[in-house]
Amino acid sequence: MEKRELTCIGCPKGCALSAEIIDRNNVKITGNSCKIGEVYGKKECTNPTRILTSTVEVIGREGIMLPVKTESDVPKNKIKECITALKGIKVSAPINMKDIILKNVANTGVNFIATKSIQK
Ligand code: SF4
Repeated sequence: MEKRELTCIGCPKGCALSAEIIDRNNVKITGNSCKIGEVYGKKECTNPTRILTSTVEVIGREGIMLPVKTESDVPKNKIKECITALKGIKVSAPINMKDIILKNVANTGVNFIATKSIQK
């Protein structure tokens, strides 16, 4: 049986979690103060994912960067590939919040979208 120590990221309390991993379908979490911590701990031990945030350059707008994020979680082992895929991406205004900036990043099926509007 594998044991892991984790910190819950569900809220600022940051409960210290202990995970006992019997197998992929049998993970016991202790140390959580609520159900969110249990769900987070189990997922982190079996299928860790993250929402990614970054910025891309806006053409012709020196010093202005467009904040972007993934529409949903991507697998933790794809984070580097996803961030690398954004390198060199430049966008032109106008941009609306939730516009797709990069489709199917790193073949995850997830898009990077704008989190801010920029007018022309
Ligand atoms: S287990 Fe619940 S209370 Fe503790 S950090 Fe996670 S979300 Fe917050």
